[in-house]
Amino acid sequence: MSNHYDLIAIGGGSGGLSVAQRAAAHGTRTAVVEKGALGGTCVNVGCVPKKIMWYGATVAGALRDAPDYGFSIERHGFDWTRLVAQRDEYIRGIHAWYHTYLADNKVDEIHGTARFIDAHTLEVEGERYTADHIAISPGGQPLVPDTSGAELGITSDGFFALTKQPQEVAVIGSGYIAVELAGLLNALGSRVTLVLRKHQLLKEFEPMLRETLMEEMQESGINIITNTAVAAVVKDESGKLRLDCQGGISCAGLDGVIWAIGRTPDTQDLNLSAAGVEMDEQGFIPTDAWQNTNVDGIYALGDVTGAAALTPVAIAAGRRLADRLFGGMPESRLEYENIPTVVFSHPPIGSIGVSEDEARELHGDAVKIYQTRFTPMYHAFTRHKHITAMKLVCVGAEEKVIGCHIIGLGADEMLQGFAVAISMGATKADFDRTIAIHPTSAEELVTLR
Ligand SMILES: Cc1cc2nc3c(=O)[nH]c(=O)nc-3n(C[C@H](O)[C@H](O)[C@H](O)COP(=O)(O)OP(=O)(O)OC[C@H]3O[C@@H](n4cnc5c(N)ncnc54)[C@H](O)[C@@H]3O)c2cc1C
Repeated sequence: MSNHYDLIAIGGGSGGLSVAQRAAAHGTRTAVVEKGALGGTCVNVGCVPKKIMWYGATVAGALRDAPDYGFSIERHGFDWTRLVAQRDEYIRGIHAWYHTYLADNKVDEIHGTARFIDAHTLEVEGERYTADHIAISPGGQPLVPDTSGAELGITSDGFFALTKQPQEVAVIGSGYIAVELAGLLNALGSRVTLVLRKHQLLKEFEPMLRETLMEEMQESGINIITNTAVAAVVKDESGKLRLDCQGGISCAGLDGVIWAIGRTPDTQDLNLSAAGVEMDEQGFIPTDAWQNTNVDGIYALGDVTGAAALTPVAIAAGRRLADRLFGGMPESRLEYENIPTVVFSHPPIGSIGVSEDEARELHGDAVKIYQTRFTPMYHAFTRHKHITAMKLVCVGAEEKVIGCHIIGLGADEMLQGFAVAISMGATKADFDRTIAIHPTSAEELVTLR
């Protein structure tokens, strides 16, 4: 069989698999090159294993609240090893499904690390492959700082490899991965310290969300240390780890340190210069609005572009690119506005559109805010409570909804439907006209005054 393809996707993750599958559906000869496990970050060390751990943490919350709902239960501990084994079994099932899916969709799998020889030629494990079109979707890797003793810690990849639960753990970082890992470890019974370089979490989110989450995390027993940087990680004589932070703050007795300080694009193996593909100073590959790089016939998708690093974004960008190239849809491209996002914190966050501050910067006094904060009915009679808070950001005389921010029980599932309305241009009057579903937390969003 010839080694020439219409399209080769580099990376068998969210973006690469999607562009390849859709291109093949349009009748092209397509291959995916993957150096690790199919599914990429999301399936192996991201969304999927994270969500399973989050579900575990949610069960822990239900067990904690069970006596308040009349259940008399005896707990016999939590078996981390068993949960992880079942999780990994589930992921192996996804790998098997992907192999069949690619074969059924007539996409060739090429195993190994792809590197460019020129703009239309790749080398993988000594074999050369050529293509008219090459989509680069190699994702990223977690960052480890250049701090003394940093290698004693692990990253989110290492977290998913843990077969034993760390009892006393420090998570360093303020982004959504740090917040999610700290929250689920705490809910599953680890003692957690979260170390922030600045004073706040989730700096890109609406302040109402991040302030409420900070209170909720502290209320749940997470020790949050703000405004400091880790100067060193040290192993003491007993084998425990200690964080020495700036300002003389120290955090000892740890059996785990997790770096969650950001991710870097995985472009170092690609030999991009051989194809003339430009990167920015951080290694991201800039594209225009059509996923085109600076080289004709070479495209970039997903996390490597530095745009919204989310699985559905990589998938949508890939599918639309294939529709444009091979499906007779010359206008097909992903619009990067109004991307809904969820943080699987405790309680979860759902957010779409602009924050209040961003709206005021853009539209000044034309902005109108509706908000509420309440104890959801579920927590009305549990001893351990989580608050719910919501904000709608509206603009203009017609009060078009340009931001919707929710923190609280069910926010993760609540947002998707509101995202449909907002991406269709819904106004506050449209929200008000919608009949509420009672009794729910979501109904508050259509009854805000
Ligand atoms: C802890 C964590 C939790 C997350 N949770 C969520 C979530 O809840 N929701 C969400 O939407 N997103 C989540 N994400 C983000 C999501 O995983 C990414 O946005 C998504 O996987 C990006 O897809 P991609 O195709 O760009 O890259 P990836 O999925 O990372 O796939 C890239 C693939 O390319 C391969 N590769 C790299 N270089 C080469 C090469 N030279 N040759 C061959 N193969 C190569 C890699 O091995 C990898 O398999 C999470 C990420 C992390 C780390």
